Order: sequence, then C-alpha cells, then structure tokens
Amino acid sequence: MTGSKPTKAVPRTIRIARQAVASGETKAVAIAERCYATIATEDANINAWLSLSKERALEQAARIDKMAERGETLPPLAGVPIGIKDVLTMLGAPATAGSKILEGYRPPYDATVVARLDAAGAVLLGKLNCDEFAMGSSNENSAYGPVHNPRALDRVPGGSSGGSAAAVAANMAVATLGTDTGGSIRQPASFCGVVGLLPTYGRVSRYGLIAFASSLDRVGPFTHTVEDAATLLGVLAGHDAMDATTSLEPVPDYVAALDQPVKGLRIGIPEEYFSDGLDPEVRAAIEKAADDLRAAGCTLHKVSLPHTRYAIPTYYVLATAEASANLARFDGVRYGLRAANATSLSGMYRQSRDAGFGKEVKRRILLGTYVLSAGYYDAYYRKAQQVRTLLTRDFLQAFHSVDAMLTPTAPTPAFKLGEKTDDPLSMYLADIYTVTANLAGICGISVPCGNSKEGLPIGAQILGKHFDEATVLRLANAVEQAQG
Ligand code: GLN
Repeated sequence: MTGSKPTKAVPRTIRIARQAVASGETKAVAIAERCYATIATEDANINAWLSLSKERALEQAARIDKMAERGETLPPLAGVPIGIKDVLTMLGAPATAGSKILEGYRPPYDATVVARLDAAGAVLLGKLNCDEFAMGSSNENSAYGPVHNPRALDRVPGGSSGGSAAAVAANMAVATLGTDTGGSIRQPASFCGVVGLLPTYGRVSRYGLIAFASSLDRVGPFTHTVEDAATLLGVLAGHDAMDATTSLEPVPDYVAALDQPVKGLRIGIPEEYFSDGLDPEVRAAIEKAADDLRAAGCTLHKVSLPHTRYAIPTYYVLATAEASANLARFDGVRYGLRAANATSLSGMYRQSRDAGFGKEVKRRILLGTYVLSAGYYDAYYRKAQQVRTLLTRDFLQAFHSVDAMLTPTAPTPAFKLGEKTDDPLSMYLADIYTVTANLAGICGISVPCGNSKEGLPIGAQILGKHFDEATVLRLANAVEQAQG
C-alpha cells in the first residue's frame, strides 16, 4: 500500500458504516469525505476511478445525516459509500465504458441498480475504470490506462471490473458494483482478495447497463465480506419493468439465510476444473477450502461437466456475435465521439469508429461479424448456441446430485501488467473457470481462500443453481469464517 493514510479510515463493512451513521458516532458526510481523501492519496498509484460525483454523494450523505439527527428510520444502506463500474449509467455523470468513443457522453438517467442503491440510502462516490466495453481480463484494455492491483502494484487487478475490485481492496469504497459477462466480477475479486458475486441471469436488472453481450451480462457487487454481498443482493435483486428478462421469482432474505448451517450440503468438485493449467498454489488453496467445508459438515462429491473444454470457444463466438450487434449503435451520431473531418455519412461512421474503438474491441467486432455472416452463421453462431445448451445441461445434470460446486475462480493468482497483452489467446484462457456459469445462466461467487507464497490473493469459486444465491452465500460465508 502506498501514500499516507488519512487520519480516520473508511469503514470496512456496510454493517460498520451504517451503524456508525445510525448511532450518530460518525456523519455520513464525514465517511464520504474520508473516501475522497483516500482516493486522493491512493488512486494516483491505482487508477481505479474515472470520475467522481462529489456533489451528488455529499448531497445524499447530508440528507442521511439529517434523517439520523431527526431519529427517522434509516434505509438499509444509509450513508454507505459505493462506487459504480463505468458501464452503468448515473444521471448526468460521464459514462465512458472505458472507451474513447463515449468521451463526453452523459446519460440522462440512472441505471435501475443505481436507482435502487440511491433509494436504499447509499452514497454514490463516482465511476470506476474497466476494460473497454467490459472486454478483457486484466483491465489493460481501458482507454484511460490500466488499473494496478492494490495488493501488488506491478500486477493486474483482473478484469474487466478491475477498478471495482481495486477500489474495495484499497478501501476507497465500502462496496462497488461490477458486471460479469464471462468472469468480470469473480476473476478480479479473486485477484484483489475481495468478495465478488455473480447473480443468476434475470435476478438483477440490466436496465442502464451499456450492453456487451446481452444474453450473458450480469450486474453484481464487490465487498469485503460475504454478509455485505448478501445485503447488497437484497437491494439489487428483483423484477424491473424496464428489463423484460428480470424474473418475478421472489427475493429471499439473503442475510438471514447466512444463519442457516451448511451441515449436510452436498458440494460437487468438477474434475474438469482441476486439470493441467491449474497453478499448484491455487489448487492447494481450493483443496484447503474443500477441507474447511467438510469440517463444517458438508459432503464432497466428484462430479463431471464433460463439455467444459468447449466453453472458451463457445463463449468467444457468442459474446463477440452479441457485441458486434450491440456496438453497432456507436456510430458518431448519437453518442460521444464524432470524427471532425469526414466528408460523407459513411465516412463519418468509419472514421468515428476507427478513432473511438480500441484494438480489442475492434477484434471482437470483426470476430462477431464474421461468425454471424451468411455462410458462416450455421458453422459458428448456430453451433455455439447448440453447445451452450450442452454446457447448461452439464450443470443441470450435476445439480441433481449436489447442491453447489466448488472450483478455483482463476487458474493463477494475479499476473504481471503487460504479461499477456501480446497474446489474446492466453488472456482468453484466464476465463476458463468462469465463462461456463454465464453460458448456463447460473449464479456464483468468488471468496478469498488464501494467499500464494508471494502474498497474492487466491479466490474460491462457488457455483449454485438458478436463483439459489442463498446457498452460494451460505457456503461462501463458511469458507470466509474458516479463514478467520
Ligand atoms: N474476460 C472476458 C472477456 O474478455 C469476460 C469479460 C466480462 O465478463 N465482461 O470477454
């Protein structure tokens, strides 16, 4: 950690922050100011924040302080400082999605998740750095520079929600929101030593999320503790009239669920997730987490997800196909950057897109356009959809005999900045354990379960059935408790 510490630290958890505000011990305004002071000293080395929304944050904090002074009942996130990944919209605040093409764009509305946090009393600090349009596994694809891992500044924080993971790890916010299309919440959580939750597809609204791959995209929280993840999911989850893919499934009390013992739960260990490319230190940490769950009364069972080896190619066909369609709207007409010297309409499209999109985004648009093109559609896109069904069936089959699964989140701890930038294929392989959950629509979490010899965090992934976040959270809580 670098820089000098502000006199008073940012509270570590939602419970601590809320209690301090409710009891009058600390003002919400003071907590927000501590966050901004920490950002001022720490973020020069980390680069997690793209823009700060101080006015909105301090206004909300002052409103909460007034409520506390008057003895009014406080909402569940009263005074809790939270950061937002820059692919989500906040009324009037810049939304770049990590891209130059959205420079200057200020959306006229709050994403549903942002509105829900706001209504729950959260103090929204600002927007967080990420890979351009959430495409990446290291945050090195941001047009605004890479994020550095607070645990080792020469390492990547993971991606694409690198800023969101780093901001929590460096105590610049109590919690943050990220998005996960193929691992972008769980993998950076693992690399930075924090908790990252992937809700079931349809559990949390995507309204106001700048889309990457709409059938895979999810929004979820980063926190220091599993309890905080449960608290935030309770606020974020539920049907939204603005997103037709959200479910009417009732939202349980996720925090209360944590009190139920995990004794008797059946944990699947998918053999395909423990093959060659797995780092020995990561393997040892996951085995230790498995032992901890056994000691808590769970039973462990070998399971097989036989189509796992097709997951990466399937994901990179479907995600790029959807991206090529979603990104067609950035043409220099409606949003952000527009090429200045174009002499024709098509020239203006071409020049704006050429100047605005980075290398990886262009690669994905080209790949996606190719797999959707006449003559190749059946061989690639259609085939990938069929394999997606097989991958989903693997999980449904395995979930007949187990309640959840335990796997590594990523094959290695955080790698060095620059280590994989010249080799997109090796970068894509960093998602090997995470993309399957997105393809199958199921939920999951990454929870810290140890450190490498070098002191780099290692995350355990727990995967659960559709809409069974409660079980995933209970198991993650047990792993966290065993860490002490
Ligand atoms: N790393 C994966 C990709 O580059 C996943 C990104 C994400 O989940 N947004 O597509």
